[in-house]
Amino acid sequence: MKNNEVIIIGGGVIGCAVAYYVAKKGINVMLIDQPKRGRATSASAGGLWPLGESIGLGCGVIFHKAMIEKGLLPADSHIPPQLPKSFLDFAIQSNEMFPSLTGAIKELSGIDFEYEETSLLFLMYDDADVAFAKTLYGNCPCGNSRIDWLTPFEVKHSEPAITHNILGALRFNGDNQVNPYALADGYREAARKLGATIITHTEVTGIKINAGRVSGVETKAGFFPSKYVVNAAGAWAAQVGEMAGVEIPVYPVRGQIIGTEAMPKILSACISTNDCYIAQKHHGEIIIGSTTEETGFNTDITPSAINSLCKGAVRAIPFLEKAKVKRVWSGLRPGTADELPILGKVKGVEGYINACGHFRTGILNSPLTGLLISEMINEDQLSFPIEPFLLSEERLQSLTNNENSNHKTSIQ
Ligand SMILES: Cc1cc2nc3c(=O)[nH]c(=O)nc-3n(C[C@H](O)[C@H](O)[C@H](O)COP(=O)(O)OP(=O)(O)OC[C@H]3O[C@@H](n4cnc5c(N)ncnc54)[C@H](O)[C@@H]3O)c2cc1C
Repeated sequence: MKNNEVIIIGGGVIGCAVAYYVAKKGINVMLIDQPKRGRATSASAGGLWPLGESIGLGCGVIFHKAMIEKGLLPADSHIPPQLPKSFLDFAIQSNEMFPSLTGAIKELSGIDFEYEETSLLFLMYDDADVAFAKTLYGNCPCGNSRIDWLTPFEVKHSEPAITHNILGALRFNGDNQVNPYALADGYREAARKLGATIITHTEVTGIKINAGRVSGVETKAGFFPSKYVVNAAGAWAAQVGEMAGVEIPVYPVRGQIIGTEAMPKILSACISTNDCYIAQKHHGEIIIGSTTEETGFNTDITPSAINSLCKGAVRAIPFLEKAKVKRVWSGLRPGTADELPILGKVKGVEGYINACGHFRTGILNSPLTGLLISEMINEDQLSFPIEPFLLSEERLQSLTNNENSNHKTSIQ
């Protein structure tokens, strides 16, 4: 057995991205994955929406609506839950890595993850949506140079399939999309080509610590020694953290989502409304997402959620009434109460590194996450300041005691 420098726990998009970037630096790396029901990468829509997600769109709108329904925000509130500028900068930098990544991954693995440069349109149905859109337009931390306010005529001209019963749309330029499964497969196969060892269908059951330093992991297939252990266990990150005595406030957030049979090309942009988001993928199928629900590790599909997503999609694109639903599914996002990922080393356990808590944006933020973790391990200068995403004592305290938060950490 070769001596591993790094073991990554979890083979979703984040673990695979970390394996790729670490292997690219010539470091011995092993990835161990036990595919669990509800793993998020297999459920994702594949949107690369740095603007939409940072300033309160995507399922953020739905989440915002849910907070109003729960009485956590006033009923007339149009204030989107905006994430800090550091997150937007992180997401934009990660998004900008995709054009070169697509060639690099294809060359090594032969896998095309179907990167598509497009945009995200937020549709305004009524005055409340217009007020919400004005807040988004006026409050973007990057200014509104990347956002266009479209009249109904302009929407009709650029996306004829969209309903004509709208008051306009906001267009977020540079919000793109990929095939998320192919992206994860591409990272994994490229990592393998670069020398990484990939072990699948194997659960990590313990992390061995000697004198405050990680020395390897226990699995059902035996013990594997290593100097570093990366926690990329998605919604199960709290359980893996516990194996090293580290509290990780990550909890599962269910998203239910729908895929249609392949259809003729009817959409260029990805669409977001108060009811749902819609994206047509490379092979013609249309993805309609998604709920944001704190139901623990429950991955059930509920007819009411699917019905309401379908209704929302037909309202936005009437032609979808003719669509045939091929599949409905759900996944567990790795949520954090401040909606920011948890990255980097922790105090007290040498060799333990977090790469978790990516919530709604793990696909988008996978390349920069992978690069940063590889730089940390190689002791290089970091390509992005990691401080806002470290699990400092203050952040841990605010994540676990957040009185304004509706979130709970649940381990199951
Ligand atoms: C419906 C839905 C739509 C989404 N849409 C988007 C989108 O459009 N754009 C976007 O950027 N993001 C999106 N996301 C979020 C994105 O999918 C996640 O942020 C991302 O997939 C998280 O990746 P991960 O690798 O951290 O977790 P996962 O993909 O869940 O991978 C974690 C892996 O670790 C394994 N594991 C856990 N414990 C152990 C253990 N003890 N031993 C071994 N293996 C273990 C799990 O089985 C799993 O395979 C969406 C999520 C959902 C649910």
